[in-house]
Amino acid sequence: MTGRTVDPTLRSWVPVPAGSDFPIQNLPFGVFEDERGRRVGVAIGEHVLDLRAVHDAGIIRLEADEAAAVSLNPMLGSRARLGAIRHRASELLTEGNEELFGIPGRGIVPLEQVTLQLPLEVPDYVDFYSSLHHATNLGRMFRPDAEPLPPNWRHLPVGYHGRSATIVLSSTDVRRPWGQHTPPAGDPVFGPSTRLDFELEVGFVTCGDVPAGRPIPVDRAEEHIAGLVLVNDWSARDIQAWEYVPLGPFLGKSFATTISPWLVTLDALAPYRVPAPPQHPEPLPHLRADPNLGLDLELEVDLNATTIARTTFRDMYWTMSQQLAHVSSNGAVVRAGDLYASGTVSGPDQGTFGSLIELAEDGARPLRLGDGSERAFLEDGDTVTMRGFCDDGRVRIGFGANVGTIVPAPDERG
Ligand code: MN
Repeated sequence: MTGRTVDPTLRSWVPVPAGSDFPIQNLPFGVFEDERGRRVGVAIGEHVLDLRAVHDAGIIRLEADEAAAVSLNPMLGSRARLGAIRHRASELLTEGNEELFGIPGRGIVPLEQVTLQLPLEVPDYVDFYSSLHHATNLGRMFRPDAEPLPPNWRHLPVGYHGRSATIVLSSTDVRRPWGQHTPPAGDPVFGPSTRLDFELEVGFVTCGDVPAGRPIPVDRAEEHIAGLVLVNDWSARDIQAWEYVPLGPFLGKSFATTISPWLVTLDALAPYRVPAPPQHPEPLPHLRADPNLGLDLELEVDLNATTIARTTFRDMYWTMSQQLAHVSSNGAVVRAGDLYASGTVSGPDQGTFGSLIELAEDGARPLRLGDGSERAFLEDGDTVTMRGFCDDGRVRIGFGANVGTIVPAPDERG
């Protein structure tokens, strides 16, 4: 069923400008709002297909909870269910199909006339650490006298549980957090972070509830992955450095995590799957997976008007399947709508790093931006924009931007 929706020769009767993130081969799901309320839609070019309107007209058949949905969660019962809705949307939007022509506005709404909303209610959020280059870079910085990779790193996808309640939609301002940190010499202080950073990540969203005690086999894990979003895992490095021993990241991360508005389905990404990097040593059997589950996804970060990083997701050491199998390998519950972020996506060279702490070498070599200013860490008013796209020269599947602007910390507490 996926095959037809990603056929590169498909065209839509909805105009799709050259370079759009949302050709008919993509059809990502999101949540939008206008004077008629909040509902679920599918992006096409510079429009959104209003699934509730199309359902009300009797042209697409949704369950009652799907038609009434104000988040994607009711449509995440299974990957097949989401795929069936997307397949029908593809039929309706294909050039030559006129089923929608009799309903008001043909069932589509210009994106400029709606406000996008957080697409998911996220039950649980996990952040991994699955880029070999990023883990090596940070290991060298934080533990210069030790092996950069901890001994577990090549045996399991290292991660931690994050805070789902502070996941926010792209374009939401991010307030500089207060926290406890230690000046280079002296006692701990409590004040606004002075080492605020971003982390370029890709997150997958689960579908189908998995009860306790039913580990997801690694070779079936993708049945539980609905799609992907771009994630900015904002990080207060000063708070993080002081708090993280021995239990890992905590308040240095939990003040905000920004996601992009559109869930790009794994179905739409099928043509862009590639072999993941070889793994040495071979993982234990429960994490031994099909190596062809990498993804050829290009990523970029702008700081204000300057592109400061270009990198690729295809070199991630641990695959999404392995991450999800690991998460449930102890019998933990997995719920539809959970978000699992990849960890910072970094390449091997300057200009391919997915965080400022790597790009500016922990403050030692500040970045020079296009306007001549320099950055070691983020300043108030700075805007970080992340973009991602798969492009095989015929079709470009984009994610829509993940944008966040830093606003000043409150002057005082209380
Ligand atoms: Mn992270």
